[in-house]
Order: sequence, then C-alpha cells, then structure tokens
Amino acid sequence: MSKARVLIVEDESIIALDIRNSLEGLGYQVAGQADRGEDAIKKAGELRPNLILMDIKLKGEMDGIETAGQIRKLFDLPVIFLTAFADQSTLERARQAEPYGYILKPFEDYELAIAIEIGLYKHGMEKKLRESEERYDLAVRGANDGLWDWNLKNNEVYFSPRWKAMLGIKEGEFGNSPDEWINRIHPEDRDRFNENFLLHIKGNTPHFEHEYRIRHASGGYMWVLARGLAVCDMEGKAYRIAGSQTDLTARKMIEERLAFSALHDGLTGLPNRELFMDRLKQRIEIAKRHPESLFAVLFLDIDRFKVVNDSLGHAVGDQLLVGTARRLQLCLRPEDTVARLSGDEFAVLLNDIGDVSDTIRVAERFQAKMRETTVLVEVNRSSTASIGIVLYTNKYIQPQDMLRDADTAMYRAKALGGGRYQIFDATMHTQALSLLQLEADMKRAVKNEEWLVYYQPVVSVANGKISGVEALIRWNHPERGIISPLDFIPQAEDIGLIIPIGEFVLRTACLQAKAWREAGFPKLWVSVNLSGRQFQDQNLVAKISQILRETGLPSQGLRLEVTESVAMQDIQYGIKVLKDLNKLGVHVSLDDFGNGYSSLSYLKQFSLNVLKIDQSFIQDILVNKNSEAITMAIIAMARSLGLEVVAEGVEKEEQLAFLKSKYCDEVQGFLFSKPLPAKELTSFLNKPFTFTTRRNTP
Ligand code: C2E
Ligand code: MG
Ligand code: MG
Repeated sequence: MSKARVLIVEDESIIALDIRNSLEGLGYQVAGQADRGEDAIKKAGELRPNLILMDIKLKGEMDGIETAGQIRKLFDLPVIFLTAFADQSTLERARQAEPYGYILKPFEDYELAIAIEIGLYKHGMEKKLRESEERYDLAVRGANDGLWDWNLKNNEVYFSPRWKAMLGIKEGEFGNSPDEWINRIHPEDRDRFNENFLLHIKGNTPHFEHEYRIRHASGGYMWVLARGLAVCDMEGKAYRIAGSQTDLTARKMIEERLAFSALHDGLTGLPNRELFMDRLKQRIEIAKRHPESLFAVLFLDIDRFKVVNDSLGHAVGDQLLVGTARRLQLCLRPEDTVARLSGDEFAVLLNDIGDVSDTIRVAERFQAKMRETTVLVEVNRSSTASIGIVLYTNKYIQPQDMLRDADTAMYRAKALGGGRYQIFDATMHTQALSLLQLEADMKRAVKNEEWLVYYQPVVSVANGKISGVEALIRWNHPERGIISPLDFIPQAEDIGLIIPIGEFVLRTACLQAKAWREAGFPKLWVSVNLSGRQFQDQNLVAKISQILRETGLPSQGLRLEVTESVAMQDIQYGIKVLKDLNKLGVHVSLDDFGNGYSSLSYLKQFSLNVLKIDQSFIQDILVNKNSEAITMAIIAMARSLGLEVVAEGVEKEEQLAFLKSKYCDEVQGFLFSKPLPAKELTSFLNKPFTFTTRRNTP
C-alpha cells in the first residue's frame, strides 16, 4: 500500500474525523485538515500533500470547487471531490475544475482507496508526460545538443544520452549527481560557471548561458556552451533548471585558427610583426621592473634575396624564406621569439641572455647554419643574412625604438658586405639621422638642379686619341661643396630619386656630346652610367630614344654603362632591355667587370658591346700576379666574345704598358685625366694629346 499523504478539506468535523479514520485504516497518512477554502490553499502550499480530498460545501466564502481550481493552478496537486451533492449543475461545475476523482458520500473504504490510487496514478502520469514534453521541446532546439535537467529539490540531474556521448561517457558510467558534472569542468572555468549558474537561479539573469571547458573521457578538455532556464514556484524560488549543452570544438577551432592567422605569417608559420611587437612590448615592461634581466633584439635580412627571387622565381624565393625560418628556429630556445616581419626580414627576441657574447653566439650559429646547409637545394647555393643586434637599455620605452635600432645596425652589416652581424651603437643612430638629412637635402637638390656633370676621357690604345668620355655626376651642395656620387647615388637609388637625377645626367651628357661633335670631334661618344632602378624602369628605352631625339645626338654618340649585378637582377628582362637598346643603336658597356657575379654563361645572352675591367684589378696589376692573370683572361675572353675592352683606373705608365702589350682597346684613368667639368674638358680636347702626356690636374 502506498504511503501517500492526504489533506482533508471538510467543513463538518465529525465527517472529517470519519475520513481520517478511513484513510489511516487504509494505510495513508493524513497531512492535515482544513474546513474553509482559504485555509485549504494555505495548507496545500505548506504541507505539499500528494493528494487532497475536498468537500464541495465549505465554511466561508469559497466552496470546494473554487478552492480546488486555485490549488490546481498554484501547486499542481491532485484533488478528489467528496460530496453528497449530486445535482447536475454542481457536477458540471466540478468537472470544469478537472478533478482527479469524484466520490459520493456515503462511500465504502475500498471506493475511497480506489479513487485515491487512480488519482495519484493519473497525476503522476501527467507529470511525467509534461516533463518529457519539456525535454522534447529542448531536444527539438538542437538534435546535436546534449540535454540536462537539474532537479534542485533532490539535487539530481538527468543527463541525456547525447550529453554523455558528447563527452565520450558510456551509458551507465555516469551517475545523476551534479558533482559528476561540476567536477569535470576545467578548474579555471569552474568558479565562473558556478557564479553564472547561481545568478540565474537567484533570478538575476533571464537565462543561464555559459561557455566553458569540460573534460572529455579521453582526458582532454573540450569547449562547450551550456544554456538553461530555471522553473520557479509561486514565490519565485527555482526548483528546477533544464537546458542544453552544445559542442563548441569546431567553432573554437575556427576561432583559434583565425586568431592564429591574424598573428602569424602564412608562409613560414612564424609570428608576424604584430605579435612580435606585442611580445617585445611585454618584455620591455618586465625589464622596467627587473632591470637586471638582459635581453636582445636581432634584426635579420637575407642577403641578395631580391636577386634570388627575381632571377630564380618566387617558388625558390619562398623556399629560401621557409628554410631561413627553420634554421632560425633551430638556433633558438623555446622561450625566444622569432618572427617574420615582412618580405625577407626576420626579427628575433632573445629573452634572457647573460651578456652580449650570448647574442653574438646566436648570430654566429645562425650564419653558420645558413652557410653549412644549402638552403636552396635546387640551385645548390647557400645563403647569408645580415644581422643587426640591439641590447636592451632603459632608454627604450617603445618596442618600435628597439626594432628601429636593430634595423639600423642590420643596414650597417649589409653595407659592410652582408653575411655578418653588427651591434647597434649610438653613432649609428646619428648616422641614420644624417641619412634622413641627406634625403631631405637631395629632394631639395633635385628641385634646384644642384647637379654637375663631369667628364673623364677614354683613350684609344691603338692611336692614343680620345675616343669618348664618361659622364660622372657630382653634387654641388650649397654647404658641403662638391659631393662624390659614391656618397649619394645609393641613397638616391633607395628612395627613387635616381630616376629624375639620372634623366638629368642623360640629357646634359647628350647635349654636351652633341656640342663637342659639332665643335670638331664628330666621332666623340659619351658614356652614361645607369643604376639598378633606372635599368628596371619600364620606360627606359622610350625615354632614351626621346632624349636622343630631343638633343639631336645620333645613337652611336651614346654609350650606357651597367654593372653586372644590375643586368643580372632579372635576367630575362635584362636580355630584353639590352636587345632593345642595341636596336636603338646605343652601345652598352658592362661596368666594373670582375667584381660582381661574373656569370660568364649569361654574358653571351646579353647584347653587349664593351667590357670595362674593374679598376681594382688594374691597380693591382703590377703587385699581384692574380690580378695580372685575371686581367689577361678578361681581355682574352672579351676578344672571343667580340667585345671591346676598356681598362679603368689606369694611374701608372707601367699599367698602361702592360695593357698595351695585352691589346686592351681603351684606357681610362688619372694617368690621362681626372673627370673634369665640360669647359675644362673642352680645352683638354683641343690640346694636342699623346700617350706621353702626364697626369693632368683639374
Ligand atoms: P664608375 O662608373 O666605375 O666610374 C669610375 C670611377 O672611378 C669614377 O668615380 C672616377 O672618378 C674614378 N676614377 C677614374 N679614373 C681613376 C683612377 O685612375 N684612379 C682612381 N682611384 N679612380 C678613378 P666617381 O666619379 O666618384 O664615380 C663613382 C661611381 O659613381 C661610378 O663608378 C658610377 O658607378 C657612379 N656614378 C657616377 N656618376 C653617375 C651617374 O650619373 N649615374 C649613376 N647611376 N651612377 C653614377
Ligand atoms: Mg662607369
Ligand atoms: Mg667602373
């Protein structure tokens, strides 16, 4: 027999006592007794009986039917009417109160027992049905979601099979205690989960929603989203909360991947500039608090990367970048950061170092790694990098200041020939500043045309006569006087000013050559130097033919000089431009030959007319047997390729005698004349000239 607790609502105390006896005799518990409606509602709320036996006629305003309706609404408790009334209208009203039974007095005990059992059963079924409908509702929201239903009164949780499957838990391995859930939450997320949960239970949030990590059966943690809604009683106290749990792994992975790619370089997978700057900033903050801990920044730039990229293609360029990244990683500890800043620039944050020598060791180890293993397997060529090093001092407040100085030191390493490191010192900063000053000055100079063009004679060995001149620019600086091209051409090249400057030289030289040709030297040519940027300029050929037209100089009156490295920057393009220039009738000299690539295999493909032997060989001829041999070899090779040979930097009679004996075509150097302004060269041209003329002083 069930031990259900029953509340008796009956206005007549004798009958109430009678019912009590019957109930107890049947094995039920009497939870309480009331004789008027208001009292019955109160007791129903307080005592929470399993069932109520309700007389229709009660004391006070409310009758049993009205009272039953309210109790049902408020507490969802089953009510059985118990009355002597049986007229049709009363029965009709009673029916609308949806009672769980109806017993007419007088009744037998077994009738009472059956009515109570049916009422309890019906009510229990309804409750189950309702719960499962609610669960079904939740389930519809997301078939993929796990469901949970937490009964706060007995503190038991229903976990749906999907909820458990999501965590890799097998059916039967998991109880229904909330601890099973809470204990699986990541320790870092647990407090916030509880906080959020309580906020909603206490009615402070419209719903419960929380993203957190939970332990999967495999041991790892996964991201999930739990949502829930509390069900509250009359007083607003939550007695149940149910909801769903969604697997966020896929979303989190996408988020993480996005976050990763926002801070990493796609090609090498290394941190990018943004992430590097962030780490450097943090490191500077630490250093402010712990000045005794030393750290360094290395700025790296692959030497001649552009040449590789342009001549061998981007695939090889990428291979070189990835290879460099890997080698850098090999040389570092996990706590160091290596990043790709842009193009072929990398930066390293050496987190904790004893002193400078640790940093130098890293730089040297890296250089060695680059050399020893051939990064470019396909072309069997190893690479080098230029490295700038800066050590932290408390003058650095901003990360970009440190990186700037490392960059400056790298530039210095590059200027010294690459494949080496340089440690930043303050004088470099001053030099960097003066470079900025130079740029500003140069911009002004372009506007004011502060350029002078000097001319240096080139003498034919066969007849001892001047066959042409090389145009060499000078900068007539208003404060610093005459400045050598070596001191500003590379910078003009860097900032692109070389284009207008170069055009000025071309125009001036062509005009001058035309004037000399008309003044009695009809075969004189002028040779003009072209820098890398000028040579790469897509408009070069058109511009030259335009200048020739405008100045009236025939094309054979102009020679152009390019260095090997300039011509080799992009070989296919180089071949084409040289061919076009040749078609125009302009002769081309390969300048400073012997000191660059000297890729003889490419020489044949270039449409060249003249080879200028680098002056370093000529000046060494008499002291260095190697230079002698090289010079002889170059002359012989030029001959076989059908090229004219010019020797530059001839300063001594003995050098001239040697060149003469080896059948060099033309010579140029201080032995004959320094570069001179046009006017002075005009009088030089007009003087009778033979080889025995000693050095002329400008
Ligand atoms: P480069 O084309 O090889 O010019 C030869 C350089 O050697 C000139 O230096 C010249 O004065 C110097 N030189 C000539 N004979 C002797 C000698 O006997 N002994 C020594 N020690 N030196 C001699 P400069 O005029 O200072 O020019 C240096 C470089 O600047 C040139 O080398 C050329 O590459 C570049 N340059 C000059 N003018 C221009 C220009 O208008 N445009 C471009 N893009 N570059 C120019
Ligand atoms: Mg030259
Ligand atoms: Mg030269």
